[in-house]
Amino acid sequence: MSGVILDGKKIRDEILGELRPRIEALRERQRAPALAVVLVGEDPASQIYVRGKIKACHELGIRSIEITPPGTISTAELIEAILPLTRDDSVDGILIQKPLPKQIDEEALTRYVDASRDVDGFGAYSLGCLVLNKPAPRACTPAGIMELLKRYKVPITGRHAVVVGRSDIVGKPMALMLLHENATVTICHSRTKNLAEECRRGDILVAAIGRPAMITAEHIKPGAVVIDVGMNRVREQAEVQRLFGHDAARLAAFAKNGTTLVGDVEPRAMQELSSAYTPVPGGVGPLTIAMLMANTVQLAEERLGLRNGGV
Ligand code: NDP
Repeated sequence: MSGVILDGKKIRDEILGELRPRIEALRERQRAPALAVVLVGEDPASQIYVRGKIKACHELGIRSIEITPPGTISTAELIEAILPLTRDDSVDGILIQKPLPKQIDEEALTRYVDASRDVDGFGAYSLGCLVLNKPAPRACTPAGIMELLKRYKVPITGRHAVVVGRSDIVGKPMALMLLHENATVTICHSRTKNLAEECRRGDILVAAIGRPAMITAEHIKPGAVVIDVGMNRVREQAEVQRLFGHDAARLAAFAKNGTTLVGDVEPRAMQELSSAYTPVPGGVGPLTIAMLMANTVQLAEERLGLRNGGV
């Protein structure tokens, strides 16, 4: 068997294409949607992610506001910095890039991002709405995966979905979204016994762990749909050879760059055993920013009275 590729870039382009006329309508009638991005400190990976988000805003005609306090800022000072955004009627979404420096009390900070601007759906109110299956912004990565599954017409109702990972931003919301689409859901984590056996129950298997190629052939039910959320940088030649020995293009790119991106699922096992799978890169990654843009537009429509929302 050779799994069909679930092309995240294609679905991203579809989603962004559908947003363009909505953004145009907002601009014509009132104003461009606006997203504020708060980047604390100088974490290089976060800087890359934020740059990607701001670039996407520019390309779509969404106004972006960047706030970049130093990494030494206190929780109280950071709250002071974001408060004006929460009172500004021309700001539709507020995103605080994670990870935050250790001294910041994340929970306290999140409480200050009002629900009507909680663009990445990480706040307690938005998460409560997710549990209740009520409208509110949804966490972008799992929401993007749901779009991908729907647009590729992957049946969910009555299927067994296994989610490995229980983080608040990926694993837990993913499991709830699948549950709301009537999957029977198992959530696995680092204390799960017999992980491979649990995973092999999955008609849909979602890996959101953060460990390169940890999910192998013994975890995958033949014919399953496999969604690989992991984004892990691998730099060891022997490991890249082991994982991508069959993939000349990848080996050539590694030889040039000295690094490559690996998901949480062993690529060859996923390709050979699944009926469909998300590649890394090019699977889940592109969808996250697309859903951030979609959430921003939706919140702008709600703020400007063009759509009824949940918040
Ligand atoms: P977290 O580190 O917050 O969560 C990882 C989860 O994996 C935890 O629930 C942990 O269990 C579980 N886990 C760790 N080790 C094992 C193990 N040996 N067996 C079973 N479960 C295990 O990560 P995130 O959820 O934030 O991210 C997961 C991955 O997804 C990362 O690679 C990240 O880079 C990627 N990611 C990709 C995005 C994209 O746009 N493509 C967006 C967000 C994340 P426990 O709770 O018991 O510790």
